[in-house]
Amino acid sequence: MSFAERLLAWHDVHGRKDLPWQRDPTPYRVWVSEVMLQQTQVATVIPYFERFMARFPAVADLAAAPQDEVLALWSGLGYYSRARNLHRAAGLIAAQHGGVFPATLEQVMELPGVGRSTAGAILALSGGQRHPILDGNVRRVLARFHAVDGWPGQGEVERLLWQKAEEHTPGARVAQYTQAVMDLGATLCTRSRPRCGDCPQAVECAARASGDPARYPAPRPRKTLPERQAVFLLVTNGRGEVLLERRPPSGIWGGLWTLPEAGDQSAAQWCGRRGLTVLEETDWPALRHTFSHFHLDISPRHVRVSDAATAVMEAPGAVWYKTQLCDQLGLPAPIKRLLVQLARDQ
Ligand code: SF4
Repeated sequence: MSFAERLLAWHDVHGRKDLPWQRDPTPYRVWVSEVMLQQTQVATVIPYFERFMARFPAVADLAAAPQDEVLALWSGLGYYSRARNLHRAAGLIAAQHGGVFPATLEQVMELPGVGRSTAGAILALSGGQRHPILDGNVRRVLARFHAVDGWPGQGEVERLLWQKAEEHTPGARVAQYTQAVMDLGATLCTRSRPRCGDCPQAVECAARASGDPARYPAPRPRKTLPERQAVFLLVTNGRGEVLLERRPPSGIWGGLWTLPEAGDQSAAQWCGRRGLTVLEETDWPALRHTFSHFHLDISPRHVRVSDAATAVMEAPGAVWYKTQLCDQLGLPAPIKRLLVQLARDQ
């Protein structure tokens, strides 16, 4: 039996077949699910996917929506560039493909945020087109099955894994095979404790034969993440409102609403420059948020200002927002946590 035959036989018995995006697997629905699943676990994605589809049932609905609404539905999933790219890509599909999801690998790969593996998965899962995939789970499975040395992010290792992925992809039942190879990595061939005893590939798996399957794939060469500090101001008035600012469209948290950053200034200086009079300042416990390339140590400071000045505030790009309604906005996770705390306190 080949790799694919063993995998398909296993999938017929153990595979996941009732995930929301597996029902009516149109390219659009599969695309949204694949993008959501890129950095996030299945259990977390399911409610987000269902809300997203209820609001944007077709690509045209997504294309026509304001970015704010898309980001609000993404709020809490993290990696917001994924949501911005989805929205931009929907606009391109509407403008360049007449609202019909493109059907060739090259066209799908031209969509913002869609790489070769995601494009292959969309076309394989929705239409059974034969394309190999190589997401994080599949990389791990193939690196183990063939005992491939080296970190899969290295060019040569990656090329070899793509070649293996291509060789194993069968000519028939490609949709099931694609789902199955992702499932194998997600459920049995997991990062730290592969369950080789239950695995259909155990008979021929080189990593298993080595006695230490978790040694593959080699980890990314370590580098310590730099740390950055930021003071975020929770500026509130007596009307139950908090001051929010919108980030520029690109960069960290691009397009999302956040709390103002004091930078080098004290809270009193920051407020004074905007015509706000500070009544009381309180430091909140610090919290750390880790991005892929740095740690952000956040020192939150709650600043109550007098109501009189808020009417004449000079702060372009900032708005007073009802604290209790903040969960309707697209907010980065740590900012959301602070605002939930503030709403509770109020
Ligand atoms: S036998 Fe073990 S290491 Fe090999 S593919 Fe299966 S779970 Fe992974």
